Order: sequence, then C-alpha cells, then structure tokens
Amino acid sequence: MKPHVFVDRPLAPEVEQSLAAHCTLDIWTDGDTIPRDELHRRLSNAEGFLTAGRRIDAALLEAAPKLRAVSTISVGYNHFDIDAMKRFGVIGTHTPYVLDETVADLTFALMLGAARRVAELDHYVREGKWKRGDGEQLFGVDVHHAVLGIIGMGRIGEAVAKRARFGFDMTVQYYNRSRKPDAEQRYEATYAELDELLATSDFVVMLAPLTEETKDMIGREQFAKMKASAIYINVSRGATVDEDALIDALENGVIRGAGLDVYKQEPIDGSHPLLRFPNVLALPHIGSATTKTRIDMAKAAANNLIAALNGETPPYLVPEFRS
Ligand code: NAP
Repeated sequence: MKPHVFVDRPLAPEVEQSLAAHCTLDIWTDGDTIPRDELHRRLSNAEGFLTAGRRIDAALLEAAPKLRAVSTISVGYNHFDIDAMKRFGVIGTHTPYVLDETVADLTFALMLGAARRVAELDHYVREGKWKRGDGEQLFGVDVHHAVLGIIGMGRIGEAVAKRARFGFDMTVQYYNRSRKPDAEQRYEATYAELDELLATSDFVVMLAPLTEETKDMIGREQFAKMKASAIYINVSRGATVDEDALIDALENGVIRGAGLDVYKQEPIDGSHPLLRFPNVLALPHIGSATTKTRIDMAKAAANNLIAALNGETPPYLVPEFRS
C-alpha cells in the first residue's frame, strides 16, 4: 500500500505527479494557510508531510501518530523542533544547494538597491518629484570595490562572495564558527572575528541560519560597532537581528541603511516602524522566489519525502538527523 502524504500547498503539476506515483496524496489548495486544527485533522493518518515553514512541534506530532517524515521546501529548518521530532521518531529533510545562486542574486539586489536607493528613487520619479538634474540628494554609495562582511559563509554565502569578488571587485571577509580555507582561497576572502567584521565592512550581510546561538545575534552593541556608512542586509531569518535595535540604529544614524528580506513576524505588518524609513529596502521573503528555483526546490522536497517513506536515506536529510 502506498504511504499517505499531506501537502499544505499546491505544487507544480510535475511534482504532484511524481509524488502521486509513490504516495496517496492530500493537498491543501485553499490559498490561505491551513488552520491549525484542520492541519492536525489532515495529518491524523499521514505518514509524510510536505510543507514550507510550518512549525513542527510536539502538539503537531501528537496529532500525527503515523508521521515518519517531514519534508520542507526550504533550506532553513528553524521551524523544526528537532528534539520533539526525534522523540516522536520523525525525520526532517530540506532543500539545500538548488537555491544558492537565486538567493545570492537577491542578496545582491538588496545590496545594490539599498546602496543606490533604487526603490526610494523609483517612488521619487513616480511621484513626479524629478524636476531637475540629479542633485546630491539623490546620491548613493558604491557597491563595487567596497568591503563586504558575510556572517555565515555557507552555501549561499559563498555564492554571494563569488559575485562580490569577481563581479564587483569587492574585498570579502567573513565570520563563521569555523574557518573555510577553500573558500578563503577561492574568493580571496579573509576570516574576521565578528567585532572586526562589523567595524570594517561597508556591507554586513547576515546569512547564518537561525539557531539558539544566532537569535538576536545583531543587536545594539553590534550596530554600534558598525561604520556609520554601513548597510546591513538580512537574508537569513528575521530573528537573527533585534529589530528594536535596528530601528534605533536607523533612527539615530548609527548605520546608513538596511536591506531586508526577512522579519521576526512574517508577513510584516504594513504599519511596522521598520517600514517608515526610506533607507530601508524591504522585500517579502522572496530570496528563493523564482519560478524555476521554486519548482526545483519542490522537486527536491518531493524526492526527499519519497526516499524517506521508502525507508531509504533521503538525499537531503537535515544534519541533526544524520547518525
Ligand atoms: P549553510 O550552508 O548551512 O551556511 C550557513 C553558514 O552559517 C555556515 O557556514 C555556518 O558556519 C555559519 N554559521 C552557523 N551558525 C553560526 C554562528 N552561530 N555564528 C556564525 N556563523 C554561523 O546554509 P545556507 O544554505 O547558506 O543557508 C543559510 C541560511 O539562509 C538558511 O539557514 C536560511 O535561514 C537562509 N535562507 C533564506 C532565504 C530567503 O528566502 N531569504 C532563502 C534561503 C536560505 P559554521 O558552522 O562554521 O559556523
């Protein structure tokens, strides 16, 4: 008998077909996020769950006694309560690699957009404020030849470093818990302790995963160490930064600006104080959101789930579940 799988969003037809060849499928197609009670009901007989970002906690696992694997269509898996999953004998998989270049492109879009004030000046033109030349009030700062500090030089960090070094002649420095000599050589990058990176970078890009260790990693103390001309970019997860501290830093000119794809609360409320600042470029968590990459991610997530339910080791088992 085929294992039963619940999917909490519609997928590309070819991905649904490939899953349907191996599993019986129940797919939530309502458009809105599935309410918690309904999710628990749908999971009551599921052996597999395909999602993107849904919190997997003890309450959900209790409601899903047959569940064996959760496959997320994302590389980040901070929504997995790993301890609870292990307790309930449920494994987790994710989708690294397929999105690296796409997320790196978006990181650069934020860097360029914040540096050259792209969204702000688009509004300026549309609002009919462009009456004369291009006075100093429209000037930005250069990305090329600037110093880039990457916090979290992993798969995506390296794709950003490649663009920075070879496309924009930037000087690349990074901070990780462990050094990566290969990456240092490939991108002529240097390792810096966090405080040094903060003090010497023109762009500080956060790309470390959200963990207990990185929660609120960038706060008042860290903004105070940055250059007043620095631009802070967050493409990782909103909770890696203390948003109140970021607001204060923007309000008091402690840094020049910010480019954000992620927030503590998503979707961010339109009246959120962070959105008051013209020098904040704000995107709706679209790092991996191109049609091709999202389909590739869904394919990878489906393959992970099929393998897990067949009793095989999935291609991208979350590291904490590797024995
Ligand atoms: P990855 O390959 O695992 O890289 C993460 C890097 O962060 C590693 O090099 C790791 O090095 C470093 N790191 C981990 N904990 C750290 C800590 N406490 N302090 C400093 N560095 C630390 O992950 P990835 O595939 O590049 O993805 C990175 C993150 O990007 C994901 O977890 C996700 O949150 C985010 N993301 C966002 C979007 C979006 O749409 N905005 C899309 C994709 C991914 P060490 O282990 O040596 O410290």
